[in-house]
Amino acid sequence: MLSVEHPQIQRDVLLSPFTTLGLGGSARWYISATTVDDVMYARQWALDHDKPLVVLGGGSNVVVSDSGVDGLVMRINIKGCKTTTNKNQLELEVSAGEDWDPIVEQVVQTGFGGLECLSGIPGSVGGTPIQNVGAYGQEVSDSIQRVRAIDSTENRVVEIEKQDCGFGYRSSRFRTIDVGRFILTHVIFRLRTKKAKAVYPDVVKWLNDKGVQDPSVADVRHAVLAIRRTKGMVLDSSDSDTRSIGSFFVNPVIDNEMYSRMTRNFEGFLPGFKLSKEEVKIPAAWLIEQAGFLKGHRNGEVGLSTKHPLAIVNRGKATAREIIDLAVLIKRRVADRFGIFLKPEARFVGFETDDAIKFLYKEND
Ligand SMILES: Cc1cc2nc3c(=O)[nH]c(=O)nc-3n(C[C@H](O)[C@H](O)[C@H](O)COP(=O)(O)OP(=O)(O)OC[C@H]3O[C@@H](n4cnc5c(N)ncnc54)[C@H](O)[C@@H]3O)c2cc1C
Repeated sequence: MLSVEHPQIQRDVLLSPFTTLGLGGSARWYISATTVDDVMYARQWALDHDKPLVVLGGGSNVVVSDSGVDGLVMRINIKGCKTTTNKNQLELEVSAGEDWDPIVEQVVQTGFGGLECLSGIPGSVGGTPIQNVGAYGQEVSDSIQRVRAIDSTENRVVEIEKQDCGFGYRSSRFRTIDVGRFILTHVIFRLRTKKAKAVYPDVVKWLNDKGVQDPSVADVRHAVLAIRRTKGMVLDSSDSDTRSIGSFFVNPVIDNEMYSRMTRNFEGFLPGFKLSKEEVKIPAAWLIEQAGFLKGHRNGEVGLSTKHPLAIVNRGKATAREIIDLAVLIKRRVADRFGIFLKPEARFVGFETDDAIKFLYKEND
């Protein structure tokens, strides 16, 4: 019988270097999975040892607790990208451990549109469907055809078509009804247009200012990267404003009635984007500033980015507890002022019985 070699499961591995926040404790056990078989092996190991299995991609959307994780942390490092192309479409099957932005760059070079506005987002390809990443008027679900995953409840490889992924605004079934069930190993994209998407006001303005008419997908990527850099939203080790998880909170979506009530009670302009007849999206950054937390807010080793009030940053030696404390304070003040309970975008690892985390997920009083 052939025996398959698996990477070693290591003990007490510090997780901070695997996260963009650069903080948090160690994984009691750790494995870097480079094949689908490694993923299955790790799942079985966790089951046999009765330990929780925590999946990590690029660590750009997680806060790891200071005490670390008493379980097996599996970093998805499966690499590879297959493309099939013809005049009308580009299909890519990308392994979950590939870095996201180089894939966007590769697609943009082909001239196909669909991912250009998602330029500069850190993390892995496998991380993108989890919260249906989005920016500047595009969402990754616009271009996903299906995902391949290990269904850990049945220990088998499954393919989930886009329409069954439960995609919504910064959401999918993978972070709502099926948290922890599917370990994504591949994402399959299908791109069918060579037209770039330039709809978001900042992008349109940047292109106009540069005199770019009828922008190509490369023009839009260029614009998005330039705009993101001014907001500290492109990872840069020399810019401490990027030591974050990006936006800490998602933009709240409220119903029209609540929006009208807020408009009546608020003196001055209240920004809101109409999503449908019933719903309005309010910029979380605006709510946070109105609640008294301005760009560059500093509290010891934690603070808000000097370029973007939505990014909570590690100024150097912050602890996870300090990050959470600031997030709780912001959420409390916004709730007191506007009655809106901000929802975190990040995932929290190693905080199982933490009341502060429960509060961060609270939707009303
Ligand atoms: C500077 C900065 C800017 C950002 N800008 C944006 C933005 O514009 N738009 C946006 O939407 N997000 C943004 N983000 C957030 C983040 O980059 C994305 O959500 C990213 O897709 C997360 O991927 P990851 O691989 O880093 O996931 P991780 O942080 O490693 O994990 C996040 C969650 O996904 C799960 N997960 C990861 N990989 C897999 C897998 N293969 N299978 C199953 N579960 C998995 C993890 O278990 C965890 O629950 C930004 C973050 C930073 C630091």
